[in-house]
Amino acid sequence: MNHSNKRFGTRAVHAGQRPDPTTGAIMTPIFQTSTYVQDAVGSPRDGYDYARVKNPTREALQGNLAALENGKHAAAFSAGLAAMDTLFKTALNAGDHLICGADVYGGLDRQLRHVWARFGVEFDFVDTTDPEAIKNALRDETRLVHVETPSNPMITITDIEACAQIAHDAGALFSVDNTFATPYLQRPLDLGADVVMHSTTKFLNGHSDMIGGALMTNSDELAEAFRFQQKTTGAVPGPFDCWLVLRGTKTLHLRMPAHCSNAARIAELLDEHADVGDVRYPGLAHHPQHELAKRQMNGFGSMVSFDLGSEERANRFAGLTELFQLAESLGGVESLVSIPSSMTHGSVPEEKKKEIGLTPGLVRLSVGVEDIEDLVADIRSALEKL
Ligand SMILES: *Cc1c(COP(=O)(O)O)cnc(C)c1O
Repeated sequence: MNHSNKRFGTRAVHAGQRPDPTTGAIMTPIFQTSTYVQDAVGSPRDGYDYARVKNPTREALQGNLAALENGKHAAAFSAGLAAMDTLFKTALNAGDHLICGADVYGGLDRQLRHVWARFGVEFDFVDTTDPEAIKNALRDETRLVHVETPSNPMITITDIEACAQIAHDAGALFSVDNTFATPYLQRPLDLGADVVMHSTTKFLNGHSDMIGGALMTNSDELAEAFRFQQKTTGAVPGPFDCWLVLRGTKTLHLRMPAHCSNAARIAELLDEHADVGDVRYPGLAHHPQHELAKRQMNGFGSMVSFDLGSEERANRFAGLTELFQLAESLGGVESLVSIPSSMTHGSVPEEKKKEIGLTPGLVRLSVGVEDIEDLVADIRSALEKL
């Protein structure tokens, strides 16, 4: 059955999947195999010749993810960073130029500085909350513009439609890291992006029990290139990890509203507290891109950042919460607290941290789906003890 004409929740549950033709098993089996028997030389069944190239559990996940992003194609990878690595390998050659949002996942900053720079790829980090800044950074060699919105960890919002237009006018591709929003809240392909990237590790899996990534696109040519990279450089996810993401996406449309309403309540609580500065949540009326977020997203997500004034206070706070456990990562059903400056963004140069306003006192919350009154009590109690 084709589910592409169905609504989001129905696609989340069904797209990409069908009962197993052999047994009728309703859940896609975990095809834990490296190779497939061929009937004769050169005639693998339906392209199944080796599991790096094609695996039925991965195919099901890719079909599901493509449907959720309103895309024609998806390619799954062994990590979000492997998906980014694949996108760069596909879009850029030595001497080409990339414009990358200034406030992006710390690991992406590391990949650009320590891997891609060695291969002659040029890049500039640009504050994409101002699309004009992208115009000013364009060069003849610019082949790709990549943004994260909402961004990590400063929770800024970038205008996807405006940036896609600028990139396309310059003959460059435009990609969006949609990890923080998820396709439930925002669908960049519909707004003109060529590629959507996900760390499936986060909300799509939703249960903090695997690492994975994905690239979605409407372009047959890019999809072919992504599949070529899966086959040729091999950063593919194992079938069990694909199965775990598939289990997660089935409840994405149920989890996200709970994440959003819990986060909104926590953001308000922090915003009203005298000892807390600079609360960053797109749902707050004073967020600099609140109007844009309202237009571009179907909700404001579950990531909240705020400033406690010093590293010492931020670290102490992270030790005082009980339900909000101290850990990197985000997007699971459980609430987490992290200190970006020394944790996820530890490898970002100090100078750049200053530029984007990433202070040592910044605290980032991933608000889970626990009972909100317990989460509120946990934050209140930690702030009191502070
Ligand atoms: C976690 C994350 C990544 C990296 O993904 P991995 O699955 O950890 O490799 C990239 N972008 C964002 C926004 C992330 O949160």
